[in-house]
Amino acid sequence: MSGPVETGETRSEVASGPVLALEPSREAQVGDLTVRRALPRRGHRTVGAWCFADHMGPVPDGGGVGTGIGPHPHIGLQTVTWLVEGEMLHRDSLGVEQLIRPGQLNLMTAGRGVAHAEEGTAGSGGRPKHGIQLWVAQPEATRDGDPDFEHHAELPRVELAAGEAAVLVGTFAGVTSPARADTDHLGAELALRPGRSTIPLRPEHEHALVVLDGSVDVEGEAVVPGFLAYLGTGRDELGLEATEPARVLLLGGTPFESEILMWWNFVARTREEVAAARVAWQADDQDRFGPVTSVLDRIDAPGLPWP
Ligand code: MN
Repeated sequence: MSGPVETGETRSEVASGPVLALEPSREAQVGDLTVRRALPRRGHRTVGAWCFADHMGPVPDGGGVGTGIGPHPHIGLQTVTWLVEGEMLHRDSLGVEQLIRPGQLNLMTAGRGVAHAEEGTAGSGGRPKHGIQLWVAQPEATRDGDPDFEHHAELPRVELAAGEAAVLVGTFAGVTSPARADTDHLGAELALRPGRSTIPLRPEHEHALVVLDGSVDVEGEAVVPGFLAYLGTGRDELGLEATEPARVLLLGGTPFESEILMWWNFVARTREEVAAARVAWQADDQDRFGPVTSVLDRIDAPGLPWP
């Protein structure tokens, strides 16, 4: 669940107060999967430090060993992998080999450079695959730092009036995830039952919702999979009404400290940084990205979109 992004440099517009904007995701191809890319969007390139969101499935996994995304590099970001159904094997240049299952968090920090593969497993073939991969832009303070990987099999949970929240990263309703957070941002999965829940938010954060399953009513608007519901800033709570079971990802954070430049699997600030990372990957620079043991082929970087 990662793949090429080709986007330019434009400033993310942060709403100066509460809004409700339903923005359709666009379809993108990642390996053999079609995903709903909720971020980046023109206008809203980031929500807090969240800069990328690919919602995949549910689809039958063509799967098994030999499928997935082969070794590829990242810089300047964290990958957050969250599954609703299915399983996946993560392998990276730190030597980590980690199976991920629904309700668990894989959090990889790229810093100056890391490489990984995301493989199908012997048990995954033919079963439904459903999940989301998000990226978190790293701030100036850590983006040139060491790579890192965390797996959290258990996450703190919060009871809602009609449902339960799992806190992936940051603090929600006074409960803090053990996952590394380089900026003040929040990710929580809300598993809603039919009924109404009012969730607490922090007014200094901007927020957005991505519905993974079902439908949730927000201020009279039905939010369904395939949209990013951008909520702006300045909210201290939000009412969510479900008439059927629904699964919703809540993203939030302090508006990001700077503009970012995203290209392919890199988050940087300048074209020179992107070009240098591309050259290092293409040259198989082991000091920067290191080796990944994978049954899949290494993925070459595409050509740069500028002269
Ligand atoms: Mn990746």
